[in-house]
Amino acid sequence: MSDTIAAIATGAVVSAVGIVRVSGSSALTVADSVFCATNGVRLKDVECRKMYYGEIKGQGDGSCLDLCLCTVSRAPNSYTGEDTVEFHCHGSLVILTEVLQTLFKHGVRQALPGEFTKRAFLNGRMDLTQAEAVIDLIEAETPVIAKNAVGQLRGAVGIKLDSLYTQLVDIMSHFHAVIDYPDEDIDEFEIKNYLAKLHNIKDELQQMLDTHERGKILKDGIPTAIIGRPNTGKSSLLNALLGYERAIVTDVAGTTRDTIEEKVLVGNVLLRLIDTAGLRHTNDEIEKLGVERTLAVLSGSGLVLLVLDGSEPLICEDYDALRSIPPDIPKIAVVNKSDLPAVLEDSELSGLGIKYCSVSALSGEGLSSLDEEIQNLFPMFERLFEHEGLNLQGHNALGGLITNVRQAEAISRALHSLVSAINALTDSVTPDAVLSDIEITLTAIGEITGKTIREDIVSRIFERFCVGK
Ligand code: GDP
Repeated sequence: MSDTIAAIATGAVVSAVGIVRVSGSSALTVADSVFCATNGVRLKDVECRKMYYGEIKGQGDGSCLDLCLCTVSRAPNSYTGEDTVEFHCHGSLVILTEVLQTLFKHGVRQALPGEFTKRAFLNGRMDLTQAEAVIDLIEAETPVIAKNAVGQLRGAVGIKLDSLYTQLVDIMSHFHAVIDYPDEDIDEFEIKNYLAKLHNIKDELQQMLDTHERGKILKDGIPTAIIGRPNTGKSSLLNALLGYERAIVTDVAGTTRDTIEEKVLVGNVLLRLIDTAGLRHTNDEIEKLGVERTLAVLSGSGLVLLVLDGSEPLICEDYDALRSIPPDIPKIAVVNKSDLPAVLEDSELSGLGIKYCSVSALSGEGLSSLDEEIQNLFPMFERLFEHEGLNLQGHNALGGLITNVRQAEAISRALHSLVSAINALTDSVTPDAVLSDIEITLTAIGEITGKTIREDIVSRIFERFCVGK
């Protein structure tokens, strides 16, 4: 018997509707004692997943706290796998808190972050990849990542890994038989057969791991350095792209001494914008540090926006900034201050050898063409939409992108031990060696789906969730 938990599922915001969710063995009894359906039906007798209109009664004088809708899901057919009740109230935090307090007085306790989803996992309603997809879906910052998370919620990663897990268990059972009955030898043909299977599994794991680099960029955004000499308008450009003031904009050269990071969605492309200290020769020690950090940011960038002042001639610091960009990183020269009389000629700009785009960070002019240029550079943020049908077998299909670092790390471990198993089998090492390597692979795969994972790690995963999920 689990204790009964409750939380506001809709967060600490004022909204039209706010939901209080209750789950656990006494959810129905407690809810029944605080809710009065207008049609007189008792909650313990209602149909599952139907909305019932009624009143929530407060503790003490039993006065009406709110007029709301209530829905019941009975174990095991609920999100958590337990009896669950949801009150759809008016979205006032005062009302929602009062409803919660009333439930607490009936012995219900406040749910911990992610506790509803943790219970869903522990009760076998979803595997760990699906539980992690829930948080990815809630936190998704781009349509692509939301779609990928939905695919994983539907089992894209879990189904694939379960199939690999079962194949490995089959192979292991045969090797166990050989160890238990030493007279039974594995013939050459069978070894070839097992090797082929192990190679297939290895390739599948490798393909999954290969999606992680792309998944990470899609989820976290493209690290985008905004560089240029002081006063060209880097901070102003950052603010213009973000649509609100974030960096301090002044006309004193060298104001942005540290780096500032913000995420912005350009079309479907998620950028992690990093405003840097201006690149210029300086004797100021603090500014020197800023310049050093700018160079470090540059080397880790996926896109560089080189800001030039179109109202002034190019000077050697502009060329130095251009030269400081590693050659293989996509870059765009943003020719700023187009609201002022232009000094830079097209011929001069084409001579720089990189794409350029005229904008005014002050008036917003030209920002939409800059957006377009950026989107053209990163079609990967669009391409996922081509796979409209969910194909659970295809690695590039929706849900097939590994965006989770924990999962990628475990896949990498699984691969490592699987390669050892393959080598041991190829070199005709004893079946024990092959077995122990396959066992490590199985444990690593089991950690991803949650079949074999330590309780403390499970707890840590769910701590990242919000309360009420
Ligand atoms: P940073 O040092 O490169 O970050 O440059 P800032 O963003 O701090 O801007 C330096 C100065 O240029 C400020 O006075 C801004 O108001 C001004 N500035 C920035 N963008 C524009 C623009 O598009 N047009 C005009 N006329 N001034 C701008």
